[in-house]
Amino acid sequence: MEITKLPLFPLLAIACLQAATATAQEAKKFQPIPNNLVVLTFDDGNVSDLTTVTPILKKHGFSATFYITSGWIGRERRLTWEQVKELDAQGFEIGNHSSSHPNMLHISDKEIHEQIVSFDWALKEHGIRRATSFAYPGEHHDRRIVKALTEAGYTNARRGLTPEYPLYDRGGRGPAYNPKEEDPFLIPGTYCRGDLSPSHEEFRAALGQAKDGSICVLIYHGVPDVHRHCTTSVDLLTKDMQYLKDNGYTVIAMRDLSKYVNFSTRPKDIYAPLVARLGITVNNLKCDTSGDNPSFSWKIKTTRPQTQAAYQILVANNPEILESNRGDFWDSGKVVSDNSNGITYAGKPLAKGKTFHWKVRCWNNPDQAEIERVKNWINKELIAEMRKTRAGAYSTPASFKYKKTP
Ligand SMILES: [Zn+2]
Repeated sequence: MEITKLPLFPLLAIACLQAATATAQEAKKFQPIPNNLVVLTFDDGNVSDLTTVTPILKKHGFSATFYITSGWIGRERRLTWEQVKELDAQGFEIGNHSSSHPNMLHISDKEIHEQIVSFDWALKEHGIRRATSFAYPGEHHDRRIVKALTEAGYTNARRGLTPEYPLYDRGGRGPAYNPKEEDPFLIPGTYCRGDLSPSHEEFRAALGQAKDGSICVLIYHGVPDVHRHCTTSVDLLTKDMQYLKDNGYTVIAMRDLSKYVNFSTRPKDIYAPLVARLGITVNNLKCDTSGDNPSFSWKIKTTRPQTQAAYQILVANNPEILESNRGDFWDSGKVVSDNSNGITYAGKPLAKGKTFHWKVRCWNNPDQAEIERVKNWINKELIAEMRKTRAGAYSTPASFKYKKTP
């Protein structure tokens, strides 16, 4: 059909429909994200989900998402379809964890599609509510999988801890989920918990990030699990849940987030927020003014194994100049050095008794051996980004009073 011969009415109807949908989206009011909000998730579909986990959750009034691999149903110590149905009937969320749990980075687009939709068909066949959330098997994600999930009608997906934090079988710390930054198909796990990641200090630190619009997403596997590396003892889970209860955490399933998060809002580039966190930042700024010239020190902050490759110090007469990333008294330029202790001032002469303002930024030196270790488990694009040296953000400014006459 030629374009000019298209009847006008259907076009208008489509336009009206689109406008109405847009208005409905705008009209939906989202509640502000409360502090202490925790999304609780359990992976792989262990029989303990129903026999051990849900009785503890129900006691506390908690909800959770159970990410299930449909091809594993009925295997030894895994759930049966009757038990999955029971979880659904009890009001817990069933999420898609693929049909056979492959490393999806290494399969074709067609196979990715099949891994997603054959799970959907299996749920339908057993009269279980349709899944809207996906968890990447082994936490491996790439742009193709994200695209396939959107095409299959999913609204969100949970990844793991990488690339911001190191990837270990035993789990560990990850980033908090800030819906203002993160793509809803790359919701990070804030802590992957288990008997091999039992630190209470780390667990509390991860939960402590559930504030100011960020959410803590917890990942567990079986209690106990078929596999030793990701197992959690009943004792550890019981204590964790009691801690959440005693400290006033609101514990929900992934789908309950739709009350707070507009999943249709997506960043321009899904990986930009992750890549932006790969550098190093700086804190603990100190300036020693006891010598002839001030000397500057700082500490680098990084969540991955990497060191400082270079630094740049700016010293300014007033905070506004520094704010615009200029140092009218000293701009060290990029200095290739791993030294962060006692860098001597080398700028314009400083007036005695006057206050000066300074800040510093650093370039990272990625640990290439560490990246080599994980390269089959993180997509090529992110591995390439992890290998790069990049400038981190400038530190929070600090000030010093110069005592000596130059
Ligand atoms: Zn899994």
